[in-house]
Amino acid sequence: MTLTVKLIPCLSDNYAWWVRDDSTGICAVVDPGEAAPVAAFLREQGCGLDWILLTHHHGDHIAGVAELLAEFGGKVAGAAADAHRLPPLDLALADGDDFLLGAAAARVIGTPGHTRGHIAIAFASHVFCGDTLFSLGCGRLLEGDAAEMFASLTALAALPDATLVCCGHEYTESNVRFALTVEPDNEALRARAEEVRAQRVVGMATVPTTIAQERAANPFMRAGSAARLAEIRAAKDSFRG
Ligand code: ZN
Ligand code: FE
Repeated sequence: MTLTVKLIPCLSDNYAWWVRDDSTGICAVVDPGEAAPVAAFLREQGCGLDWILLTHHHGDHIAGVAELLAEFGGKVAGAAADAHRLPPLDLALADGDDFLLGAAAARVIGTPGHTRGHIAIAFASHVFCGDTLFSLGCGRLLEGDAAEMFASLTALAALPDATLVCCGHEYTESNVRFALTVEPDNEALRARAEEVRAQRVVGMATVPTTIAQERAANPFMRAGSAARLAEIRAAKDSFRG
């Protein structure tokens, strides 16, 4: 079962993700925060849109939904817990649910912390994790607490090492600066910092990354306890780097 996955830059630093199950050609877009770039991508691919998958309710992840549905059709899947503040859902998902994109199976992981109803969608090869886990960072605790985010990051950390982490924003460069203040001697982090610098100089995306990479270098995923995560998150919130 193979997926083809492409990122679609939206707004100033958001990523929507295009996902195709290669065995059936069934396609999804994850978190279309803006319609125009996603529509242009779909027209270029000459493909339809079977599903729109939503990780959470924030406008920069859902604002393109209505326009895309009007042009391409498709069904919308998102968290049951946030159905009242998401676009109308054709499929309401909760932690532990299975989701099938054509023949490709995914598991829904409840990942509260950034928002109460946040979910991640984990295929065998890729996880779409919205604003829960970023490369070298995690989402702000806007509706949840550090204990919830710690549990969410722990669940994501348990995915296979090679799982590609497809997150909602290109925040890596500023995350690197903060991460180096937490773990200045972490060799994996220092190597990643070099890689990120090289990628950004030529305007490349720094994602997807992998679960193994984040386990090795992401200070939020490495916090070890909810209390430590709370400290690191508070320090990042006031970090001016
Ligand atoms: Zn968000
Ligand atoms: Fe966001």
